[in-house]
Amino acid sequence: MKEKIFAIIGKPLSHSLSPLMHSYWYKKYSINAKYEPIEIEQNEIKDVIEKIRKKEISGINITLPYKQVIIQHLDKIINDAEETHSVNTVYLDKNETLIGENTDVYGIQAAYLNKINLQKKMNSALIIGAGGVAPSIIYALIKSNLGKISITNRTFEKAIFLKKKFPFINIIKWEDFNKFIPDFGLIINATSLGMKNSDQFENKIENFDENATYIDTIYNPLETQMINDLKQKNIKTFNGLDMLIYQGQKSFYIWNKINPEVDDELVNLLQDKIK
Ligand code: NAP
Repeated sequence: MKEKIFAIIGKPLSHSLSPLMHSYWYKKYSINAKYEPIEIEQNEIKDVIEKIRKKEISGINITLPYKQVIIQHLDKIINDAEETHSVNTVYLDKNETLIGENTDVYGIQAAYLNKINLQKKMNSALIIGAGGVAPSIIYALIKSNLGKISITNRTFEKAIFLKKKFPFINIIKWEDFNKFIPDFGLIINATSLGMKNSDQFENKIENFDENATYIDTIYNPLETQMINDLKQKNIKTFNGLDMLIYQGQKSFYIWNKINPEVDDELVNLLQDKIK
């Protein structure tokens, strides 16, 4: 049988771990397929879409900054993609309809929310950041019954934009959010602050409740300065690697109808690549 081609599109892509992860699974399950990075400009998306329609490419992941703009090229968005208006997985179904799905929501739930004890105070979450990943985080929290959601973002208008889609979220001003930290059982960093070669949080975020959980969506470095500080205070922390792995697991399942195992060899492979 002819080798199938899968890909990730975005820009930049040089640091994407998805090709390594999916190639590992294709080899493990002896599937004749390859998964490659396709770094493109926005005006080139239509060319990739054409290749999927012609079955030259069997499926794609979409990353920054195209998770929303891809939608205009698709026939239909379904499930979590419809709720978040954010698409990270595309395929042609048996009726040749080009479908957009979102597996980030599942990634967040499987990586973190299914593992956290839902204590009383945990029912109050703060999301720091209102960029492309924020709608998926909000929707994952909703699906996990974490009812009280607040959001803060440097650019206030982006938080307002999110509130139009999710009217029940509470907005906290960027200048003020530090003083509300003790009120939250779950704090999620959805900004690039703390990422390798990126800006860091200007002010230390302190006063975490002792039972609070901190999730950093960043996986490079595996341990951000914030995670480092919080570990010393015995606050429960998670990094972004599991979210990446579990969104990939669901994409792989959608395309191949095999639920690939998240084994130690894969985790070590990805961690070594980050080091
Ligand atoms: P994005 O759309 O570019 O949004 C970036 C966010 O970071 C915005 O909220 C932005 O605020 C904020 N930000 C950037 N520089 C800042 C600064 N100097 N001060 C304050 N805020 C700053 O990116 P995204 O796709 O939402 O990704 C956000 C984070 O999620 C990244 O760290 C990314 O690695 C992570 N992520 C992880 C996974 C995973 O699988 N683990 C998947 C997707 C994303 P403004 O709106 O004010 O610019």
